[in-house]
Amino acid sequence: MRIAIDQDVCIGSGQCALTAPRVFTQDDDGFGQVLPGREDGAGDPLAREAARACPVRAITVDDA
Ligand code: SF4
Repeated sequence: MRIAIDQDVCIGSGQCALTAPRVFTQDDDGFGQVLPGREDGAGDPLAREAARACPVRAITVDDA
């Protein structure tokens, strides 16, 4: 699994960090970020849930 956030799309709602705090955080401006080393989702099923929760679909989950 590979998780990424399109920073051009993110509006900084914070849903990702709220939903899966082991995988996502927010930067100083409130925009979502994948935590360093957690780009593989860290085995957390909530990572996928966070992608679904993003209101602007800025999070991609690549299973390839
Ligand atoms: S849920 Fe989506 S819009 Fe909100 S901070 Fe996370 S990536 Fe950005």
